Amino acid sequence: MTLRPHLFGMLPDDLVSILRGRGVEVRDDEARRILAHAITRGRDGFPETRPVPKRVEAAIDELVDRRKPEILERATDPSDGFVKYLFRLHDGALAEAVRIPLEKEGRFSVCLSSQAGCAMGCLFCATGRLGLKRHLEAWEIVAQLVAVRDEAPGRVSGAVFQGQGEPLHNFEAVSKAARILSHSCGGAISGNAITISTVGLVPGILKLANDPPPWRLIVSLTSAIEEKRRSLIPTGGAWSVDEIAGAVRTYQRAVGGRVTVAWVLLGGVNHGPDEVAALARLFEGVPLRFNLIDVNDARPDGFRRATDEEREAFRDGLQALGVPVVRRYSGGVAKHAACGMLASTRNG
Ligand code: SF4
Repeated sequence: MTLRPHLFGMLPDDLVSILRGRGVEVRDDEARRILAHAITRGRDGFPETRPVPKRVEAAIDELVDRRKPEILERATDPSDGFVKYLFRLHDGALAEAVRIPLEKEGRFSVCLSSQAGCAMGCLFCATGRLGLKRHLEAWEIVAQLVAVRDEAPGRVSGAVFQGQGEPLHNFEAVSKAARILSHSCGGAISGNAITISTVGLVPGILKLANDPPPWRLIVSLTSAIEEKRRSLIPTGGAWSVDEIAGAVRTYQRAVGGRVTVAWVLLGGVNHGPDEVAALARLFEGVPLRFNLIDVNDARPDGFRRATDEEREAFRDGLQALGVPVVRRYSGGVAKHAACGMLASTRNG
């Protein structure tokens, strides 16, 4: 935790107001150059080609924190090129991010953590077993992207909030981080290339519906059957499937288009005709698209990967409802970087 505000958690107006609040006059274009130098380009120090006045640099040195989190480990899965980063934050908390190669050669997305650990307790997720250590601050989220991008052999063009934590449980910090990531002097990532994934926190979904940001939302349901969902997601199951479906309906009306539902396929658990029937009831008239995600097989929690037959039967059931279905690859398994495997562990 830092006492001074961190540069990575600022938009240009924030920097201007902190400096002016201490009597240091700074122009808007100077603040923008300082932030672009640090966040967009990931450089230390201050801009050199069009430098800012020395009194501004001195004031920032005094008032603003610019330290980067320590990278404890980078672990590359040689089978697919996913790279998992483990960071130590200033209070010793650990955070993880994953560099994901995209289909287009030389393009990457970064999977970001919004919390250290997670309070939702999903039974099929290693992060859930950690419990919630703490929320991450906006700058700690942005810092993950800056560090990963700094070493990427190409362009980072997307960010997904799908690492450790439930992003909507840390709503203010996540929305601030997403605003910085999509700002031209921040992450400079297109707003619609930023994805926030929630396990179904109704107040957060409704806040997004009320004031829709440009980033995309993915709702991870896991089951549409009340008791089953509550047993699979004990803490995150504070809202009933009907309440979640109601919030998704409101969100869809606000933003239009199809809402993406992520479905972690648990073999023998959540792909039967009962799930398809429950989904049809809950989401009647709501345009959805489904991302199916296989769990990996080497698991300590007793769940297994769905067979091809189980997956195809579920996909056919969804398609019969008119729901487009895609299978999403969750990579980095060898380095514990895949969905549901982030547990702040070192690979050696
Ligand atoms: S799946 Fe997501 S919400 Fe559930 S415990 Fe893991 S990190 Fe938290």
